[in-house]
Amino acid sequence: MLADRINQLTPSPTLSLNSKIKELQAQGLAIINLTAGEPDFAPPSVLKEALIATVNQNCHHYTPVAGILELRQAIAQKYRNTYQLNYQADNVIVSSGAKQVLYNALASLINPEDEVIVYTPTWSTYIEQIKLVQGIPVLIELEPPFQLTAAHLEAKITSKTKAVILNYPHNPTGQLIALNELQNIIQLAKQHKFWLISDEIYETIVFDGQPHQCLPAIDPTIQDQCLVVSGLSKSHAITGWRLGWGCGPKELIRAMTNLQGQTTSGASSVIQQAALAAFLDLETPKQMARAYQDRRDQIWPELASIPGLKPIKPQGAFYFFVDIRNLLNNACPTSTDWCQALLTEQQVALVPGEAFLAPGYFRLSFATAPSELLLAVQKIRAFVTKSEASKDY
Ligand code: PLP
Repeated sequence: MLADRINQLTPSPTLSLNSKIKELQAQGLAIINLTAGEPDFAPPSVLKEALIATVNQNCHHYTPVAGILELRQAIAQKYRNTYQLNYQADNVIVSSGAKQVLYNALASLINPEDEVIVYTPTWSTYIEQIKLVQGIPVLIELEPPFQLTAAHLEAKITSKTKAVILNYPHNPTGQLIALNELQNIIQLAKQHKFWLISDEIYETIVFDGQPHQCLPAIDPTIQDQCLVVSGLSKSHAITGWRLGWGCGPKELIRAMTNLQGQTTSGASSVIQQAALAAFLDLETPKQMARAYQDRRDQIWPELASIPGLKPIKPQGAFYFFVDIRNLLNNACPTSTDWCQALLTEQQVALVPGEAFLAPGYFRLSFATAPSELLLAVQKIRAFVTKSEASKDY
């Protein structure tokens, strides 16, 4: 008999979908896979070279649990230089990816029955992690264009609200949160004394020349109630290397460090050492962001012109989140059915909205070569045209 907490856990839908597609590809089927939540670029050479050098220097011992000092200093310095925040090394924990940082934070903050506010569509990991620590996820259900406001949040605050999870640029909608709304959300957090967990993993992928608004930089007096979560997975295309961090008040960082010390210990020694090179390479993330924006601008008109499809134009990250509620019918009553039929008929793989608690949509990742993207959009057009035509008979 397994524990209740595991029986209640929904496995990551995007990860399992991805392995299913790899299985089909291994059988020889040419599938255009637009499900992955990771960059298609190779890591920058400086990082690869740094990693090889680190291995050759016999960097193979356990590291301090919170991360090697030089890396925590480099991260704190990034926040000082980029966002004028006065973080020091002991405001920083390094973990094996932002996902682990989030879990460490929730396990350190949430008592059973504490409420954590999350808005949908949402990356499903937040919900599952809240459940794992016996908290209660409280959902704000946003409608297109998925703009979170302080008023949405205020309507969900109760005496049990312990934390709110923000994510911008957002997975899966690609939306930001307006600066005045972030200011008002900070005021609500101060007034009602809840934590703000700000997942800024896509911070370097913001379009149209907009600056990323790091949450505590908007009002540094919130720093004692705020954890910023980020990492190198998306900015430097090293999702598999596993390197993320959290910046917050020392007491919270100490608690998260204690937890990490009794679960996984410090992140990989070689990756931490190599990661130092990323903080000297500010150009690569900018180049990647420009490439994503070009792809968005190339694909957007194609996608938006398919009858019945209503894509949300992303302001950052690398996803189109597309409303297909008008296209659902008896043959494909749900977005999961629709995506399954598309995969079978046109060999294009997308993530159905159900994976983000938003049935009736799909997520298309444009972290893929533009030629593949254009072909995929043609295939989606063909699929929609055919299914709409067959509806008439
Ligand atoms: N936060 C969001 C919103 C994500 O989409 C992802 C990955 O897809 C993560 C965090 C996890 O990042 P990491 O690879 O650093 O664990």
